Amino acid sequence: METVELLLPKFESALIGYAREEIDIIFQAFEFAQKHHTGQKRASGEEFIIHPLSIGIILAKMNVDYEMIVAGLLHDVVEDTDVQLSEIIDLFGNKIAELVDGVTKISKLKPVARSEIKAETIRKMLFAMINDMKVIIIKLADKIHNMSTLNFLPEEKRKRIANETMEIYAPLAGKMGMHFIKDQLEDLALRWINPDAFLVIKNFFDNKEKDRERTISLITRKLEEKLTQYHTPFSIKSRTKHYYSIFKKMKKYNIRIEDIYDLYGIRVITDSVENCYKIFGIIHTLWHPIPSRFRDFIAHPKQNGYRSLHTTVIVERGKAVEIQIRTESMHEFNEYGVAAHWYYKKGAVPSDKQLKWLTKLKEVHKQNLSSQEYYQIIRDDILKDEIYVFTPMGDIIELPKGATAVDFAYRIHTEVGHRCKSAKSNGAIIPLHTPLKNGALVEINTGKYANPKQAWLTFVKTSHARKKIKYFLSKRKEELKPQKPEPVKKEKIEDKVKLQKRPDKKNRSSHISVEVNGEKNLMFSFAKCCNPQRDDFIVGYVSRGRGIIIHKVDCHSLNYIKDVDKRLIDVSWGGVKTSTIIYSFFVKIKNSMDLYDHISEILRKYNGRIIEWLIDNNPNEALNGFIVTEIPTNKNVDAIIYEIKNLDGVFDIKVK
Ligand code: MN
Repeated sequence: METVELLLPKFESALIGYAREEIDIIFQAFEFAQKHHTGQKRASGEEFIIHPLSIGIILAKMNVDYEMIVAGLLHDVVEDTDVQLSEIIDLFGNKIAELVDGVTKISKLKPVARSEIKAETIRKMLFAMINDMKVIIIKLADKIHNMSTLNFLPEEKRKRIANETMEIYAPLAGKMGMHFIKDQLEDLALRWINPDAFLVIKNFFDNKEKDRERTISLITRKLEEKLTQYHTPFSIKSRTKHYYSIFKKMKKYNIRIEDIYDLYGIRVITDSVENCYKIFGIIHTLWHPIPSRFRDFIAHPKQNGYRSLHTTVIVERGKAVEIQIRTESMHEFNEYGVAAHWYYKKGAVPSDKQLKWLTKLKEVHKQNLSSQEYYQIIRDDILKDEIYVFTPMGDIIELPKGATAVDFAYRIHTEVGHRCKSAKSNGAIIPLHTPLKNGALVEINTGKYANPKQAWLTFVKTSHARKKIKYFLSKRKEELKPQKPEPVKKEKIEDKVKLQKRPDKKNRSSHISVEVNGEKNLMFSFAKCCNPQRDDFIVGYVSRGRGIIIHKVDCHSLNYIKDVDKRLIDVSWGGVKTSTIIYSFFVKIKNSMDLYDHISEILRKYNGRIIEWLIDNNPNEALNGFIVTEIPTNKNVDAIIYEIKNLDGVFDIKVK
């Protein structure tokens, strides 16, 4: 348990570098807060003052201006004690009082429905941020300390807060270039969102500590020797990679932590850009670099202003170390982002490029959105990393990472989205669901009779496209006037599940069919030029008299067919694949539209899909039902269950 006696020396050493007068005011604020929080305890049983004091330490470590530290110490005084804001104004002045008021306003909410609290808090917070980023930095420091004391809260609350941190607060810190905060928040959140994975990683590093120290000191020694020889000023910092980045890698490549070869990293800090490149060159003469792993973020800074050189070199057999090279000021900026600007007080302001997301955020605040819509836009559009793609006219379109040609089409115009039939990236046809590559030139082929498809909802990334597609589909449903589906009863669900397992379907395992808009019995043949195989990405060419000819999407001969644009259609592999199994899962989930999307996204990742979604429709919080899915036999069902189970709002899932 933390105590004031243990924390004060840490606070004092973090304040080295601040002016005497500033430190005096900071301690005046500390004593004021301590006096007024006397007798209050946190859920952990600790004295309440531990909380503002910890925030003071986090802020001081970031070298933010002293007013922010003072406001951090006082941030709960107005809300949780009988102190009035006027008293803060009298004692500490307007500037500090405004910051305290900003943070207080975020936590105070007008009464709203429970389901809306999350979105409303975030709406308030981001609104406060538009006016003053300093408020957000204090709020983020508050979040770090709250996240590190989550173990004292009930599990469900813990998970909810951790998810919100992963979806909003950590990406927000990233947008502001504050990796110091982002990395901490992600690791703290991972611990509660995926405790098993967190422990695997933690234990691994705990056991490898000796090995790590040995490897790092080996490199350090060799590097020191060489750099001294070249009279290049430098300092070396060893760093443990943050757990969440390891976790992402394990997930992305579906590998165990033992199979990640570059678990260790060091940073070399020097005095000038020229020396960064010089050291980079020296490192490559000492060790063999992995070709695909150089990154020059000095010549091409990241959008949030991040600058550094990265390279991964092989230091011993099978062991690689990632080395980052940067100047001291780049380092400060990479760690503290917008907060670093105030520290240097160079009058530097974040560039337009860095603030672009903030401009977008302002626009979102002008719209009259429901809490749910607002939360989705923030999470899926504003805070996602972005890519830039080009239209054939050379216009740049910015999209969130993972966006597809359909997202692109809707961004250009709703009608282009609705009529989108196929797409090309840098001249080659790509499937509509493929994530676009940064910098690609994207073309959309539209068809007069093309229409949005239900399946698009499983892969579009922007809420804009999703909204337009849903609207179109619901309108068309109305026009078609279908009979109202009867509420699904338990017995019925079971019948349907049995239907999916009809043995005759299995007997057709050797049969291959191709679907066009769900239509199966069409005449088709496979193109000889590219000879598509099961599960290749394919397109159909409507020939004259020979039915549909199936090509691979990237088949070169398509480029030579004159009327290809008018005759290409979307096709997909149909029938029961020889290599898939139908699974039905019993699930208990929260009533939420998002879960359908999240679950189908997970299945898609494993080349599976949802066949039936049989969840009863009542207003209860927890819904029971069945999801019938098709999953390739070579995919690990346990892994899929594991991922689905970890979704926010999934209470239980079992193979039926
Ligand atoms: Mn607080």
